[in-house]
Amino acid sequence: MRRNSVVVADRSEFFIGGGWVRPSTSDVIEVISPITEKVLAVAPAGSTADIDAAVAAARTAFASGPWPRMTAAERADVLDRLVAAIAERSADFAMTITEENGSPLAFSELGQVGLATMALAYFAALARHFAFEEEREGLMSRARVIRSPVGVVGAIVPWNIPLLSIVMKLGPALAAGCTVVVKPSPETPLDSYILAECLLQAGIPDGVVNIVPGGRETGEHLVSHPGVDKISFTGSVTAGQQIGARCGRLLRPVTLELGGKSAAVLCEDVDLSATIPALIPSIMGNNGQMCVAQTRVLAPRARYHDVVEALAAEVSALSIGDPRDKATDVGPLVSQRQRDRVESYLRLGRSEGARVAAGGGRPDASPIGWFIEPTVFADVDNGMRIAQEEIFGPVVAVIPYESSADAVRIANDSVYGLSGSVWGTDIDQATAIARQVRTGTITVNGFAFEFNCPFGGVKSSGIGREFGPEGLSAFLEDKTLCVANTTSAIYT
Ligand code: NAD
Repeated sequence: MRRNSVVVADRSEFFIGGGWVRPSTSDVIEVISPITEKVLAVAPAGSTADIDAAVAAARTAFASGPWPRMTAAERADVLDRLVAAIAERSADFAMTITEENGSPLAFSELGQVGLATMALAYFAALARHFAFEEEREGLMSRARVIRSPVGVVGAIVPWNIPLLSIVMKLGPALAAGCTVVVKPSPETPLDSYILAECLLQAGIPDGVVNIVPGGRETGEHLVSHPGVDKISFTGSVTAGQQIGARCGRLLRPVTLELGGKSAAVLCEDVDLSATIPALIPSIMGNNGQMCVAQTRVLAPRARYHDVVEALAAEVSALSIGDPRDKATDVGPLVSQRQRDRVESYLRLGRSEGARVAAGGGRPDASPIGWFIEPTVFADVDNGMRIAQEEIFGPVVAVIPYESSADAVRIANDSVYGLSGSVWGTDIDQATAIARQVRTGTITVNGFAFEFNCPFGGVKSSGIGREFGPEGLSAFLEDKTLCVANTTSAIYT
């Protein structure tokens, strides 16, 4: 039996070519509520034929539609209207995402929907002043560097931040003048329907954005599709490797935003009473299902015991429960499969010799729903698998270090390099450590996410950057137009 939801409804069509299109097959995705374990709603599952239709619509819109031919300011106006439309529906978005993936409502409101509107607004503003063309004085000619939209973009996204990860691709792709086929994850197709409604309200021209939820095969077809010019992917390392390999064979540009196992380095002089409460959201936020989660806490040996005690106390005080309740800190994991995965790491950690300092199992009070207690593993060596592999749940490993050089060595002893943080009273010392950590983003005494700065990973955490002018450039092709034997400007 379904639970009654005020915002979630069954869906039966795809958003293709500016309207609602019937699917080519009767295959459906059953979205299972992580809270009740019952079917929340159904949506059609995209087939290869549906992807073909979406790519054809995006190709037509790119080849002959108005979008790539509009001025950047005109596109920015549409993006601003999209921001307004999403803001108007923010309560629907937040509750839908919470129902789909178990994000605590307070996190959904700010971390999912709030950030998504801010990100889109950033790209609208950037489009208005970005140098899409630039004149240069060459040796043999005057030259114009022309930055044109890359073409039709395939955007493939995960379930943990469904709207935000779409918007992180849509914002720069649309600002650039590209057209897009979005493939949401089968765990979270429902919020993308509200996005389609917002796109219609904003007056996006037909075919500029097309949305076809589906599973891995649907994504694979999009990646290899001859009508696609660029792939932008967010998800696991395994899928990223497969997608990167396909794009390599096709010589198709690709951006990969993948996993992480980020280190939070606590310096010798860290103020634990201020730091531990500030650190917790960057570990346990979104039920620990964040690519940027600070899941390795590196503590100085002399203060190791105090750090474990303080972390365990803070984590044990988190409220676990129904994510639709705004007072809840930690909700259920997205799926039974995800809980099985996290539980397998809880067993592994014990068998590797780590000590459970907090949590470690399912909460007694929530027999229904895919809940896992926020867990602190102490006595962890960085060589253990629980310190090396991305668990993607509310689990943190506390690892001792001997000196700041040792902390840097441990932080860098990872196949990942996505995020990180350094916490201490001496800002110069903390900043010096932060400079030495090989990662895409790192914050001193906090956890920052800056729209005007590049975001992405090194090593297995990915290739390329989102956000900032760098993120917009990822959807542009540079072309050099030279006019020989002239001294006058190519255009005024
Ligand atoms: P996933 O890789 O299983 O799936 C992500 C998306 O890719 C889904 O839409 C899925 O259907 C599709 N997909 C899977 N295999 C594919 C293939 N071979 N070809 C084409 N499409 C394919 O990941 P997930 O479990 O949905 O998400 C969790 C992962 O995402 C974690 O590893 C997390 O760290 C990562 N993530 C990274 C970022 C970032 O910005 N770096 C942000 C959020 C999540």
